[in-house]
Amino acid sequence: MKRFSRVLITGASRGLGAALAQCLAARGYDLMLLARSADELRALAAELRDLHGVDVECVTLDLANLDAVAALCDQLSRDPRGVDVLVNNAGIGSYRALGEWTTQEIVDCSAVNITAPILLSRALIASMIANRRGMIVNIASDLARRYLANMAPYVASKRALLGFSGSLLREVKQHNIRVCSVLPGIIDTAFNGATEGSKEETWALQPAALAEQIADLLELPLNVVIDEMTIHPLHQDF
Ligand code: NAP
Repeated sequence: MKRFSRVLITGASRGLGAALAQCLAARGYDLMLLARSADELRALAAELRDLHGVDVECVTLDLANLDAVAALCDQLSRDPRGVDVLVNNAGIGSYRALGEWTTQEIVDCSAVNITAPILLSRALIASMIANRRGMIVNIASDLARRYLANMAPYVASKRALLGFSGSLLREVKQHNIRVCSVLPGIIDTAFNGATEGSKEETWALQPAALAEQIADLLELPLNVVIDEMTIHPLHQDF
């Protein structure tokens, strides 16, 4: 059953974020889609409006630019339409030894994967508390609970996101707000330069199927929360 009305999804121009936008639009949710790629966002928004008759707003923004994120937060906290679900989905990382990461890449990875989600959560939490209604879904990674050589800054950011998520839940659950971490294994997307649609189902999650599982989290009865959902392709090494 649909329990919310308007969902902000970061990283919605492709991959899991775009799949989630498609799935939630099909279930009747109005959307705010955020990413850097304006053309991809516009095309997806037009398709979702046509197919499902939902309201879709696009926000072209670089989450590594924390001044731009702060300006958006200011706008969001004054937006009369409100956002009752935030999905912090955008994430970046690359598979390289630490010495090969530039300072800028490390700073950007932290900004996109952990600082921006915290700032966006802070911007929306006051209205969620006032309405006693809201949900924050943080897309972490199964790497938040294990270790992987050559991805140290990424793994650190995902573990930090998991810590943020669980701690915020304990702070806001008394106000009927739920915070949930999703810890997926390998997903068949273009993450880190991969080719979307190139991996076999047995060892990579399909974005559309994973999106359905995440959308179901929004539709749980309001008196329960799944605080962490770990989901692996069965044949992945984990
Ligand atoms: P993806 O295909 O690379 O998509 C990432 C999305 O984030 C894109 O829409 C991208 O849009 C957006 N994004 C990247 N940098 C951004 C920035 N600086 N500002 C705003 N938006 C930005 O990756 P995905 O696999 O769908 O990843 C979704 C989430 O799942 C991420 O948090 C990732 O860490 C996590 N995850 C992925 C895997 C995997 O195997 N793929 C496994 C576990 C967890 P623009 O380029 O248009 O900005």
